[in-house]
Amino acid sequence: MNIHEYQGKAVLKEFGAPVSAGFPALTVAEAVEAAKKLPGPLFVVKSQIHAGGRGKGKFKELGPDAKGGVRLAKSVEEVESHAKEMLGNTLVTAQTGEAGKQVNRLYIEDGSDIAKEFYLSALVDRTTSRVAFVISTEGGMDIEAVAHDTPEKIETFSVDPATGIMPHHGRSMARILGLSGDQAKQAAAVLAQIYTAFVAKDMDMLEINPLIVTTAGQIKCLDAKISFDSNSLYRHPEIVALRDTTEEDEKEIEASKYDLAYIALDGTIGCMVNGAGLAMATLDIIQLYGESPANFLDVGGGASEEKVTAAFKIITADPKVKGILVNIFGGIMKCDVIARGVIAAVKAVGLQVPLVVRLEGTNVQEGKDIISSSGLNVIPADDLDDAAQKIVAAIKKV
Ligand code: GDP
Ligand code: MG
Repeated sequence: MNIHEYQGKAVLKEFGAPVSAGFPALTVAEAVEAAKKLPGPLFVVKSQIHAGGRGKGKFKELGPDAKGGVRLAKSVEEVESHAKEMLGNTLVTAQTGEAGKQVNRLYIEDGSDIAKEFYLSALVDRTTSRVAFVISTEGGMDIEAVAHDTPEKIETFSVDPATGIMPHHGRSMARILGLSGDQAKQAAAVLAQIYTAFVAKDMDMLEINPLIVTTAGQIKCLDAKISFDSNSLYRHPEIVALRDTTEEDEKEIEASKYDLAYIALDGTIGCMVNGAGLAMATLDIIQLYGESPANFLDVGGGASEEKVTAAFKIITADPKVKGILVNIFGGIMKCDVIARGVIAAVKAVGLQVPLVVRLEGTNVQEGKDIISSSGLNVIPADDLDDAAQKIVAAIKKV
């Protein structure tokens, strides 16, 4: 689960990490009120969307010459005019895709005078089963380019969970960033605060880009991008309360209500599969035959008819879907249950696109009989290869 920058900074602040003062704003009037509460003379007006690259982003409605999604302002009036331009408009960044995201909230922050911009992130390294830090002197807006062109400028180390953060981690960070004296101490403190927050809140990714040194020599987290491990949310109601569903894909929200593992993709073939491995294989084979999947969907091992119906509705509600491939290996999941679910869903929502169904495993004959006697226009397939070729051929025909 992702949260907004201003929420992430509030979480970091709880753990003592240095962040600028600021207030979220949903309207221009609130943005002006927020600016009046801040000392000035420099303010930052920041679009709050669940995507990075805002500074270099462009508003669709404002044309290529307008400023981006993070703007400096030198007066309350300037905050107001930026807020008017930004709120309600669509910000397109390297991370939003072409459609962009509508900016419904701003964060008005006390502006900092920046001497240096660094990069700091923490993530769960599955190879070492540890929290790893990624640190670079080349912070700011182009870390992807740094990783590509000068990877030696990015350094990492991980923390042994048995000892937690140690003084030598702080020294490593200071060495990587070329800091000494008081700034080295500040950096070590921030590292420890971030590690504590990361573990306490079950984060799976935290990115501070940039981590800055101000002209006055203070280290500060100027940006915060945090995602949490969804499997741990049951023990963090305070984090769940930060969820902003307007930032999430509607189909994914609907799927999460039924506990379906669903991820929206850009292609044209809707997929309903059981098991993550089979689902991945299904996406691959669709690509192999020249089309692309509209989603990843794992209905799970013991899905009920209700769950299958919900899954089918989510797939058919996607206007990009030009054909549907149901690929089920019935182990715990029984083929007749899938068949009944598909039929119930088709009866409820109709079927405007070709549907290929491949069933195999437990109760397969019963499942096939249910489908063939349903009178629905379903194309049966015998194996995965056959199924993928049939759905690709079917959508080319219509
Ligand atoms: P992102 O583009 O989505 O990563 O948004 P950031 O929060 O990182 O802001 C983009 C850039 O705006 C930063 O890399 C800074 O260079 C600049 N910026 C953000 N806050 C301030 C500030 O308080 N003062 C100054 N001078 N620049 C800032
Ligand atoms: Mg940033």
